[in-house]
Amino acid sequence: MNKSQVGQEIIRLLQSNSTKLDYGELPTDKIGNQTLGKANMLTNNATIYVKGTESTTKTAQTIIHEVTHISLQNPIYNQREEVIAFMREVKHSRDNLSYTQIKAIIQEVKSLYPTIPHR
Ligand SMILES: [Zn+2]
Repeated sequence: MNKSQVGQEIIRLLQSNSTKLDYGELPTDKIGNQTLGKANMLTNNATIYVKGTESTTKTAQTIIHEVTHISLQNPIYNQREEVIAFMREVKHSRDNLSYTQIKAIIQEVKSLYPTIPHR
């Protein structure tokens, strides 16, 4: 987690949030996607489903993703917020995202979450 700048930021954020690791079965979200983690904005709690994350890198990325949701404190959950969370995940392993990678993330979010508001 400490190996990236984004990981270090998240460690600081974690001091005011709590993250729980869950080893049970993966839940699915409202539209049937299996989820690796979830964030509760009201209680500042993130849960990471370790069974789905499989590697320590993916576990770290999922923590970064969910804690990003909590740190944004958006009143309306939207695709833009998902794009930011996925971009921060990728930034754990590489410093700069290319335009092509950002475009791919936007496309992935659109296909994973077609029904949530754009922004
Ligand atoms: Zn998300």
